[in-house]
Amino acid sequence: MSHFMRTDGSYQHRRSTTRVLALLAAMVFALNLPAPARAEWFKSEQAVMGTSIAVQLWHTDADFADACIAAVMSEMHRIDAAMSPYKESSELSKVNREAARFPVAASKELFDLIARSLEMSERSGGAFDITYASVGRMYDYRARKKPGNAEIETALKAVNYHHIKLDRARGTIRFTHPGVYIDLGGIAKGHAVDRGISLLRERGIRHALVSAGGDSRILGDRRGRPWFTGIKDPRNPQRAPVVLPLSDTAISTSGDYERYFIEDGVRYHHIINPGTGRSARAARSVTVLGPDATTTDALSTTLFVLGPEKALKLADTMPEIDAIIIDSNGTMHYSSGLEPPAKQ
Ligand code: ADP
Ligand code: MG
Repeated sequence: MSHFMRTDGSYQHRRSTTRVLALLAAMVFALNLPAPARAEWFKSEQAVMGTSIAVQLWHTDADFADACIAAVMSEMHRIDAAMSPYKESSELSKVNREAARFPVAASKELFDLIARSLEMSERSGGAFDITYASVGRMYDYRARKKPGNAEIETALKAVNYHHIKLDRARGTIRFTHPGVYIDLGGIAKGHAVDRGISLLRERGIRHALVSAGGDSRILGDRRGRPWFTGIKDPRNPQRAPVVLPLSDTAISTSGDYERYFIEDGVRYHHIINPGTGRSARAARSVTVLGPDATTTDALSTTLFVLGPEKALKLADTMPEIDAIIIDSNGTMHYSSGLEPPAKQ
């Protein structure tokens, strides 16, 4: 069941797998949805994993709600400590330091997330590839730093997910090429969001939203209403030309406006085409809707690299997935499970 919104601003349930988009809306913002009479929604926001983590949930007991939010936040810190490529002490950093020399024993959590990353690599013909970081680590967007052509050529030899060997029986990870460096930035936030939602569900919460930057998952609805999530205009991210009414879904957006710098008119951003070692050029943003945030996170990055045509083809092989792509000209493309907004 999904929500659908008519252009007159009303919405209703539809018993169909088709999600119908609502364009615009100034209207939606003008609705200014009233908050419940009592303060039963609890919210918190914290900076973790280099992004903003937000938790919102509905409950009658303030102490219990606070404890739930604290549990989610501490889970986010735990995952960051294990999977950050920037922390020397993380499990991921240990793998990066050692796996080219010998098989490294990994936690089940890290092992499984790398295994899921490799599945996405297989499905996408290598568009999603966590070894992108062998070259990707040479970019520093804040410092406006990028590698030169020769550096890219050399580092590209290490970019290939086939260089990662997983031994499930032993629970070990090995790199079969020197200079391989992995980074889970394209999937770990989605995983963290899914873990957050699981914790809330285990505690009996039925209405919640957990988000980590561009990755969100919604549990239930907003007490009889949908949640509204906007898709930003990539060249004017304060504006959201499309608003999606959502419930019980995960949604991720990858955009070339999140981390970038512009030099000589060229935008250098954080989504790397593993084939070229350079920023992917075929899209400005990709939004993916699906059942869980690990999938939508990895897929938004993947579809971004693939570009609209191949992306829609891949999305249409996945029955639970919908995608909205803004291409390099700013034109919007929708997967076949979505009905484009009615022209007004
Ligand atoms: P964010 O929410 O950080 O903007 P995205 O979901 O858009 O993340 O993914 C971008 C991140 O994914 C990059 O910061 C990088 O860590 C990682 N990444 C970049 N290119 C690739 C790729 N081709 N395959 C896998 N991961 C990638
Ligand atoms: Mg992603």
